[in-house]
Amino acid sequence: MIGARPQFIKAAAVSRAFAARGDVTEVIVHTGQHFDANMSDVFFEEMEIPKPLHRLEVHSLSHGAMTGRMLEKIDGIIAYEKPDYVMVYGDTNSTLAGALAAKKLQIAVVHVEAGLRSFKMAMPEEVNRILTDRISDVLYCPTDTAVSNLRREGFDHYGCRIVKSGDVMQDVARFYSARAKEYSTIMEDLSLIGEKFLLSTLHRAANTDDPARLRELVAGLNEVAEDHTVVMPLHPRTKAALKTHGLTLGVRQIDPVGYFDMVALLSHATLVLTDSGGVQKEAYLFDSYCVIFRDETEWVELVDHGFSVLVGADRQKMVAAVRRLIDKPFVRSAELFGGGTAAQQIAADLLTHA
Ligand code: UDP
Repeated sequence: MIGARPQFIKAAAVSRAFAARGDVTEVIVHTGQHFDANMSDVFFEEMEIPKPLHRLEVHSLSHGAMTGRMLEKIDGIIAYEKPDYVMVYGDTNSTLAGALAAKKLQIAVVHVEAGLRSFKMAMPEEVNRILTDRISDVLYCPTDTAVSNLRREGFDHYGCRIVKSGDVMQDVARFYSARAKEYSTIMEDLSLIGEKFLLSTLHRAANTDDPARLRELVAGLNEVAEDHTVVMPLHPRTKAALKTHGLTLGVRQIDPVGYFDMVALLSHATLVLTDSGGVQKEAYLFDSYCVIFRDETEWVELVDHGFSVLVGADRQKMVAAVRRLIDKPFVRSAELFGGGTAAQQIAADLLTHA
């Protein structure tokens, strides 16, 4: 069950691991939450994710309406396909709808990227994570922190299985980076070869839907852009929010890019600035420090080890962090997300216990 950009990317690794085994049939359902070609199709094509057998085309609705419609449609698909497991990824409305539909039909739920917490219930993703975890039968955790979050919340008493698998995003980064090198032309296309540049993404609702935060972030980015080239693949939600609030972002804006182009940009960026969960980790995986436009993170290891710094939506903190990190040599002192075999471990573990 997938529907949003980060889920396509995670599923690329897990679907590949299932296909390599050859002893399991995977039926992919695309909820439609992300639907633009550059937010969806491009990932299926370049990462060779098997084509979805069912497309629900549910998008552009309020959280409740979106989750509700997905729930109803997924219910019908599960009744028709009769799977042994329903696998969900991450923390979107598609994750919750898939898990809930399966649980109500007494189909085992498998959650990939379980146990993450921001401890901020105002964040829609936090609600999705907690509810999905609670009704999952198998919880694949990317980090020790995720495992201990679940243990602290009493999950040992819920009759589920908690497995530390490592992070499938690490697998994806390793597997596809050679292909990205071969196929991406974005560095040439944007005339970035030999240029020092910063890579930024911005899309969390907490930043885009709050005009005061968005204004402060735009001001900070504009200040950074006075001295540095800042490249930002602009998320559709952010594009709309900038327009609504009449804000001008003075960075080099580009349309959202495919994963190969993103890897090329990550591999050459001097510094990464983002509020994305995935991009925080990728900064580290591709040897850059990261400035996070959030007040907290689920990936606390990155901050604890000094690979990332939280600046919230504070213009001055952002500018100070950029100054401090821009010329600091990146030294990898820890392996935080597993050895790049998480998807294989998940496939093997799931089928062993099937
Ligand atoms: N990403 C991409 N193209 C872009 C921006 C992001 O391929 O233009 C990738 C990024 O490399 C990461 C994933 O999308 O693998 C992160 O998704 P997003 O930031 O939308 O969600 P989050 O990780 O915050 O849930």
